[in-house]
Amino acid sequence: MRPTETARRTDILDRATLVLNRSWRPVHVTTVRRALCMVFREAARIVCPESLSTYTFDEWVLQPVMMADRAVRSPSIRIQAPEVVLLVHYDRIPCHEAPFTRRNLFLRDDFTCQYCGRRCSTDHLSVDHVLPRSRGGNTSWENCVLACVGCNARKADRTLKEAGLHLLRPPVRPRWTPYLNLRPSQRMDSWARFAPEQKRRSASTS
Ligand SMILES: [Zn+2]
Repeated sequence: MRPTETARRTDILDRATLVLNRSWRPVHVTTVRRALCMVFREAARIVCPESLSTYTFDEWVLQPVMMADRAVRSPSIRIQAPEVVLLVHYDRIPCHEAPFTRRNLFLRDDFTCQYCGRRCSTDHLSVDHVLPRSRGGNTSWENCVLACVGCNARKADRTLKEAGLHLLRPPVRPRWTPYLNLRPSQRMDSWARFAPEQKRRSASTS
């Protein structure tokens, strides 16, 4: 196999696949590699997003590859990378809480200063404690927001009232979604029918 083909195959195996539970509710997003392993172990079936038909690994191998850029090739087979898989046994909805991380805070606040509403690059934004740490404010979803350099300097070690600043919206723990930690560009259009919140999210941020 030529090096370029190896690289391309690795890339496809690392792309995202939506995982549905037995009741067709999205539970998380995995890689094509892991999804294919689950299907191979018969823990999941591949879903055709258009027809909603489901396939075992052996059945999927017989399906034509419709999108050349999503083809997984090996010396012996050529199959389409699954966009959606359905778990055969798992019927629960995970009750994960969105972990409080710097990255997730940037996603929650959409790279926007929560004081002046300016959208900035990461270098121009910092994590601001609404109630300053020096006043007993903790590092949590409810007390941290993104602030631009200017607003951060203006607020300094003061409370909102003292600094005469207002928040665009109250900081809250974001609702967990299967797309947490996934950039919009990594999501597949075909997932929208299984996950209405994906549409709502893009509608609310546009
Ligand atoms: Zn600002």
